[in-house]
Amino acid sequence: MQKKYDVIIPGGGLAGLTLAIQLKRAKPDISILILESRDTEAATGAHKVGESTVELATHYFREVLDLKGYLEEFELPKQGLRFFFKTNNKEVVEDRVEFGTQKKLTVLSHQLDRGTLENYLAKHAQELGAEFILGARAKEVNFSTEGHELIYSKDAEDIKVIGTWIADATGRGSLLKRKMKFQKPMEHHVNAVWWRLTGEIDVDDWSENTKWKTYLEPKLRYHATVHFMDKGYWVWVIPLGSKNTSIGIVADPAVHPFEEINTYEKSLAWLEKNEPLCYKMLKPRGEGDGLMDFRVLKHYAHDTGRLYSSDRWGVTGEAGAFLDPLYSPGSDFIALSNTWLSDLILRDLAGEDIVLRASIYEQSHLSHLENWIPIYQNKYLLMGNTQIMLIKISWDWAVYWSVPCLLFTNHAFTNLKLLKDLFAGPTSLGRKFGELNKRMQDLFLAWQQYDTEIFSNSYIDAFDAKFLKQFQIDMLIQYEPKELMKKIADNMVILENVAAEIFRMVSAQAKGTPEDMNVAPYSIGLDTMEDTTEKHKTGLAPDAKIKEDIQELWLYKKKIMA
Ligand SMILES: Cc1cc2nc3c(=O)[nH]c(=O)nc-3n(C[C@H](O)[C@H](O)[C@H](O)COP(=O)(O)OP(=O)(O)OC[C@H]3O[C@@H](n4cnc5c(N)ncnc54)[C@H](O)[C@@H]3O)c2cc1C
Repeated sequence: MQKKYDVIIPGGGLAGLTLAIQLKRAKPDISILILESRDTEAATGAHKVGESTVELATHYFREVLDLKGYLEEFELPKQGLRFFFKTNNKEVVEDRVEFGTQKKLTVLSHQLDRGTLENYLAKHAQELGAEFILGARAKEVNFSTEGHELIYSKDAEDIKVIGTWIADATGRGSLLKRKMKFQKPMEHHVNAVWWRLTGEIDVDDWSENTKWKTYLEPKLRYHATVHFMDKGYWVWVIPLGSKNTSIGIVADPAVHPFEEINTYEKSLAWLEKNEPLCYKMLKPRGEGDGLMDFRVLKHYAHDTGRLYSSDRWGVTGEAGAFLDPLYSPGSDFIALSNTWLSDLILRDLAGEDIVLRASIYEQSHLSHLENWIPIYQNKYLLMGNTQIMLIKISWDWAVYWSVPCLLFTNHAFTNLKLLKDLFAGPTSLGRKFGELNKRMQDLFLAWQQYDTEIFSNSYIDAFDAKFLKQFQIDMLIQYEPKELMKKIADNMVILENVAAEIFRMVSAQAKGTPEDMNVAPYSIGLDTMEDTTEKHKTGLAPDAKIKEDIQELWLYKKKIMA
């Protein structure tokens, strides 16, 4: 007789394993089968890409899955994202504009060695009672109201199992997406290559300048996800808990063709030309140079038409969609998917009708994705514009912390009333949030032709902008649903004022409009002087505190370091 499970999860990577743990924690007697096609343990140091977490996923791992103990013992703390921008002299790291905090962050995140992590998660899921089979490749799913049949192969034999639910976590294998043909192209064409080196690499060691070295608290550069950036690309340096280092190049082929980076040798030659200091510090040092692997991924972004069905199937992680790694959001989307999918599964197994919920969760996820696309689309072309990137990154953090993070830490994504109040209707806060973000992302593109200066020798701490620091800290506060709605509404007012102030500065620089003009946030766009004055005359007046904050991020009045 075929074995029957409540949930079958093809794909035992990050998404599948965390989904199993989340379900088991909520309902210990739920029966789960996880099928993983890899037939051995994951390799420490050089398993998969996706080694940096940000705040939403960190909350998921630490609080929802209760992985604090593991993360603190075996993985590294992460001290945010740190950027080094374009200069005329990339040989000297302290000559670059550096963007990162000077003090340890209050809100935690982690750098992950994916091999160590996935081995631990597989062990933990089994301790909680899930079955986990290595060397098991899911081949076919036949849907039925009596229970879905899944066929997998193991040791050259086909085995049939029945699952009330199928949760596809096969990553780019995309089992269900292929079967049901709900693939969707994503209009965002960027490529990535990456490799791991044995040993620790600390960017602090890349200069002898003691003032530069001691300008911030110790180890903040080492524990950050470090980005070296210029037009069309960024290079990452990420430390791993296994004492190895991950290096990657992410590049828009319109500026840096894939064929220039798609082998290790070509990547080194590309670094020598575009990031000479990185080349010097990362190049092979002879026999046994510590190269652990080298991987490439062409056009990594992909979209999906479906995610969750009341017919008792769903997809999670990269089996659904993937946008861009710039802000390390992959695990955030896993946290969101697993939260929606596990809620549907648990309610359905408890006998609840989930038709409406499945549809609302799917729409919420798809529109969340839609709101996030403009953050990345065409933006690699701005990566050589330091001033624009400083403002853009700060804006992107502001929108991320003030709304989605706060909603996630407050369990709002499964609260139907809150979702309806926030997102239903054309004038809802959620719709305004999406529209305001889109306006700003378009403004950054339009600004490019007016921002021509190359800056150097400056340090910008994002948390000198007080609204940003506050948004980040506030995501840890728990609110009652009513208070949460009020908090989101208050945050939207701050975002509108931030948008207005950024626009005032940009429009003054580009079009010569007054720095104290009123601004209507939902009409932001670089127009002629006459149109601007007309459109914005009944808009928001300047807010002195926000103005002060934006000035902190304004390099034209830069802070010289040394
Ligand atoms: C360049 C780049 C950088 C990134 N950086 C970050 C980052 O810093 N932070 C972050 O959070 N995310 C990052 N990501 C995203 C991150 O890699 C993914 O979100 C994450 O790995 C997806 O996990 P997953 O479990 O969905 O897929 P995977 O990790 O790919 O797991 C899928 C599993 O399914 C198995 N499988 C496949 N087909 C079958 C089958 N038919 N049967 C059984 N098993 C199967 C595979 O062996 C695999 O183990 C990055 C992505 C890219 C491309």
